Amino acid sequence: TKPEATADVVAESVAPIITVTEVKANVSMPEAATKAAATGADGVGLLRTEHLMLTAGVHPGKFIAEGREDELINTIAENVMIVADAFYPKPVWYRTLDAPTDEFIALDGGENEPREHNPMLGWRGIRRELDQPEILKCEFKAIKKLYDQGYTNLGIMIPLSQHPDELRKAKALCEEVGLRPHKDIDFGMMVEIPAAALTIEDYIDVGIDFVSLGTNDLTQYTLAVDRNNEFVAKHYTEEHPAVMKLIERTIKKCAEAGVKCSICGQAGSVPRIVEKLVSYGISSVSSNTDAVAEVRKTVARAEQKLILDAARKRLE
Ligand code: PEP
Ligand code: MG
Repeated sequence: TKPEATADVVAESVAPIITVTEVKANVSMPEAATKAAATGADGVGLLRTEHLMLTAGVHPGKFIAEGREDELINTIAENVMIVADAFYPKPVWYRTLDAPTDEFIALDGGENEPREHNPMLGWRGIRRELDQPEILKCEFKAIKKLYDQGYTNLGIMIPLSQHPDELRKAKALCEEVGLRPHKDIDFGMMVEIPAAALTIEDYIDVGIDFVSLGTNDLTQYTLAVDRNNEFVAKHYTEEHPAVMKLIERTIKKCAEAGVKCSICGQAGSVPRIVEKLVSYGISSVSSNTDAVAEVRKTVARAEQKLILDAARKRLE
């Protein structure tokens, strides 16, 4: 079926505060898409895939091993369609699988998962997907299927990259399934590793449409603090000057190059941080559905402050 512009109707009924900086929602479960769209969010800044794969109950690698690729493609496409539909024509950024081994070990008795000493520094995100390109290709095929059905609002977002070559390889795989990234479809990446923030210019040279700051991971990797370890939780803060410098650098370099820069980590829901993000020139902030209305107000206040400060400066 062809998508309908439901999101516009919803947005009008919500009558949101107008902000130049877009405010989007993070979605992890397709069932939650309607509720997320009802907030009047300007799109989905992060569609997580892990939950979808976990609820399928079968390890994605097993689908491949048993020659059931079509089943995997259809499962992904059916679920992503629910979200793309609820938000059409607003953009939905589909993040390719970021499966840490410790989370996926529950599937199939763990036979498809290695035991790692440090899963957070291990086999996850794009590094894993390039080692298992069959899974990544199934994801791209699912997105292509939806694109062919008229869901032109989908974008592809690559997680946990530490070198631009990973993006080049991912783009080539996408081309292989007949979908031209950065031409047919928006193609972007998450900045979650300091290496990516420090070399963002090189990534921009690869040809991308957007960047999204994954500050949950960026914080843990910058500060060497495991985000899931309660013993070091007190050392985990996105407001650490080193994290903020990496964020500022990324936003400003993207703005210079005309590449959209968003944030989908929890830092985007912290008012003190949002004020800074807006002043650096962020294009959109994506938060959990429950926080969208509050983030919208915070963004509006930050924008007003920016305008007032500039006006006062000129008057002086
Ligand atoms: C992040 O790292 O900030 C992020 C949004 O991704 P996830 O929380 O799924 O790792
Ligand atoms: Mg992350």
